[in-house]
Amino acid sequence: AKAEGRDNVQFFTESLNARAAEFLQLEHSLRRALGRHEFRLHYQPQIDMRTGQLVGMEALVRWQHPSLGLVAPSKFIPVAEDTGMIVAIGEWVMLEACREAQRWRELGLADVPVAVNLSANQFRAGVRDCVARALAYSGLPANRLELEVTESLVMGAADQVIASLRELKEMGLILSIDDFGTGYSSLSYLKRFPIDRLKIDRSFVCDITTNPDDAAITTAIIHLGHNLRLHVVAEGVETRQQWDFLREQGCDQAQGYWISKPLDSEALLEFLRSWQGGLSS
Ligand code: C2E
Ligand code: CA
Ligand code: CA
Ligand code: CA
Repeated sequence: AKAEGRDNVQFFTESLNARAAEFLQLEHSLRRALGRHEFRLHYQPQIDMRTGQLVGMEALVRWQHPSLGLVAPSKFIPVAEDTGMIVAIGEWVMLEACREAQRWRELGLADVPVAVNLSANQFRAGVRDCVARALAYSGLPANRLELEVTESLVMGAADQVIASLRELKEMGLILSIDDFGTGYSSLSYLKRFPIDRLKIDRSFVCDITTNPDDAAITTAIIHLGHNLRLHVVAEGVETRQQWDFLREQGCDQAQGYWISKPLDSEALLEFLRSWQGGLSS
């Protein structure tokens, strides 16, 4: 038992070292990634469940690392947050998303809001100026930019966060709560904050057709959202059955593999050309 204990400690230490080394390696290459233009944005369409029309697009960052290949955001966003690099990366994401959305407008392919994910640190760094710069450089109207914030970000509810959200709303931006239902929220913030949309987390949507609890939670979120006059978006819709259930429950919009995976900018242009008439075409 003693030897086993030592092995466990050793294993633990080794895996800790491995993780620390991985973190340092990522941090090191992350510092160079912006200057080397290694980031890309992919875009995932959001569809009105009643009309089949395109109603929005979520921008999702991708990192093409020279030797590691494509690094998932779940891997590098935490590193970027811990090191403060998320501010510079987030600034790039914001500008790039606005530019691209303006391009769809100019090409006459889509005139819908592009949604950008925000980290808490970006709020502290003054997100207002970042937004204003991106809008000015791109020419995108403020009401075509949407910011996705998480419950934990708004729940922190520093007065400063509330003030920032109000400012952004006054500028004309659209605000949504991402991953709704996964945080510990009192729900009271929903009426204090100037929010337009709720996004039901994928973890609920995933099992709505097989798990009655997830179905009940999803239905409750849709009703809650509607009673608060918010649009409700389901994310991670992967099957026809999930789409049908959500539609029957009155969910407004859907996003997920059933409609399209996130697409690079070229593939997205193709998607837009073929989707223009809505679901029926
Ligand atoms: P999220 O905001 O919840 O984004 C949705 C994630 O679900 C994306 O993963 C997307 O590719 C994936 N997804 C979409 N539809 C489906 C589906 O039908 N089935 C399944 N299984 N997955 C689906 P992704 O792109 O890997 O992003 C992961 C997370 O990374 C995002 O979660 C978001 O929290 C964060 N993230 C991505 N881009 C940015 C960014 O530019 N800034 C910040 N701060 N965070 C970002
Ligand atoms: Ca999101
Ligand atoms: Ca989400
Ligand atoms: Ca999520």
